[in-house]
Amino acid sequence: MKKIGILGGGQLGKMLCLAAANWDMDITILENDAACPARPYCTRFVKGDIKNYDDVVAFGQTVDIITIEIEHVNTEALHFLKKQGKTVHPNPVSLDLIKDKGQQKAFYRKYRLPTSAVWYFDSISILKEKIDTITFPCVWKSREGGYDGKGVSILKSKADIVKLPDERCIIEEMVDIDKEIAVIVCRNENGQVVAYPSVEMVFDPKANMLDYQMCPSAINKKVEKKAQALAISVIEKLDICGLLAVELFLTKQGKLLINEVAPRPHNSGHHTIEATETSQFEQHLRSISNMPLGATAMRLPSVLLNVVGADGFSGKTKILGWENALGTEGVHIHLYGKKMTKPFRKMGHITILNKDIERAKQVALDLKEMFKVVSE
Ligand code: ADP
Repeated sequence: MKKIGILGGGQLGKMLCLAAANWDMDITILENDAACPARPYCTRFVKGDIKNYDDVVAFGQTVDIITIEIEHVNTEALHFLKKQGKTVHPNPVSLDLIKDKGQQKAFYRKYRLPTSAVWYFDSISILKEKIDTITFPCVWKSREGGYDGKGVSILKSKADIVKLPDERCIIEEMVDIDKEIAVIVCRNENGQVVAYPSVEMVFDPKANMLDYQMCPSAINKKVEKKAQALAISVIEKLDICGLLAVELFLTKQGKLLINEVAPRPHNSGHHTIEATETSQFEQHLRSISNMPLGATAMRLPSVLLNVVGADGFSGKTKILGWENALGTEGVHIHLYGKKMTKPFRKMGHITILNKDIERAKQVALDLKEMFKVVSE
């Protein structure tokens, strides 16, 4: 069997390793943090920096197929490895494009894929100079480096400009969002493509992080079909093999707009471990190894809760109340094994399965009270 190398050893890497274990696949992880979640579950662990050219190139020599669990990797090294004849998924050209929110938006425009209006600024001083061309409220986004809401800021008025860092950015029109949904699609080298049923995401405004998500989304069949078709169109145009999570806004006027994509396993697909025929992690391994893709049909409706570090606690992780939650039917708990907690850090997730999604939401609310991640 071909050797697979993953750049990054966080929870996504860990869950890829767990899926790979079913088929006894050979997985090597490159990661700087020797105490990372994936380490105990991989075949081989290499300590190194995923952003460093030499580390990534050297790592590539030890495996046949290279993939990622996070976008912020050295893509120059991936271009080199691909030229050398290694299999690299996602392809580094598309990865470069996706890493830059500005290029991503330009790509959607080029292919007439629906997305919000956008303006480009190369520095904060240019943004300040052209401030009168901007309509408020609007959304500021750092072109590179944003993750989990850190590179995004809602600007209510001119005054909000002062809090922004000096970097290349885009300004997006403020979308009148009704729902935020995500569709995960997957493609292999033979061109086979599958789409998962969409999930609906509900955000916690304080942490600017996912609060819970549910599958199926509360949208009609026509919108669901359209969302899946859009996601398939994006993965094909990007020529990506592997998973692609496509985040979409459904506007109050009933239009679907693409927000952004992630070419890897994604938080919006964690429920697939229990709630669908093939988990996103197994699907990714199938696709990058050019195996037939698995079925994406839903087994049961689900609600997914992120378990995040409690506000005000930083230090050695201590998880309270999780054993008690195991007594409730349909509850599946995943703890990532992160040694240190900090406010809002993703420490695990819980998937609640139930034929009745309203019942699953109620269980989620109860569990939120029961679970707490604090420091020792
Ligand atoms: P990240 O890469 O940090 O996840 P996103 O681009 O997904 O950043 O933005 C984070 C959140 O900000 C979105 O989930 C959405 O709630 C809000 N948001 C982003 N862009 C817009 C927009 N153009 N209009 C309104 N809200 C937006």
